[in-house]
Amino acid sequence: MGLEAALPVDNVLTTQLQKVINWARRSAVWPMPFATACCGIELMATASSRFDLARFGAEVFRFSPRQADLLIVAGRVSVKMLPVLQRIYVQMTEPKWVISMGACASTGGVFDTYAVVQGVDQFIPVDVYVPGCPPRPEMLIEGVMAIQRIIDQDNIPKDGEGRRVPLKIALQPTYQPRAQPLEVSIGAT
Ligand code: SF4
Repeated sequence: MGLEAALPVDNVLTTQLQKVINWARRSAVWPMPFATACCGIELMATASSRFDLARFGAEVFRFSPRQADLLIVAGRVSVKMLPVLQRIYVQMTEPKWVISMGACASTGGVFDTYAVVQGVDQFIPVDVYVPGCPPRPEMLIEGVMAIQRIIDQDNIPKDGEGRRVPLKIALQPTYQPRAQPLEVSIGAT
């Protein structure tokens, strides 16, 4: 990484152990995708070359909850799937984090029916809500970065009895849509 060249060989580097642990954790977040619908396509785009989640050290998607520490719920969750989601969350390693991606995961979206969970935060703790239908990859990356900032500050939220408390950070949409429909001019040929 160039450090060897910058530092003379007989120098000593000192830092706090907790800072090194936080740096390692935030630089190697391993997501567990729980993609059930169209938001999952944007989740895939986020990991692919154009948006390149690897720039943030979070591209190693694991499909085993025991190897993951960031659960990304992308898409609507049916009541039938809810026990699966809860089991995955319980089996993930500590400290673990949860992103609710898109309107459906956070609120049920347009699926106001008895078969769809009206917000996964009623059943698992959610740290970051990413808005959109679907959210753009940049917005999901912002959500990952929000969690990385918390890890950096060693701010694992616990209540008085040491239980994990969800952060409930709601990202604000930053994308400015252009007026629609676009102006069309028809010139004489
Ligand atoms: S929020 Fe929109 S894009 Fe995402 S799963 Fe629901 S309907 Fe699909």
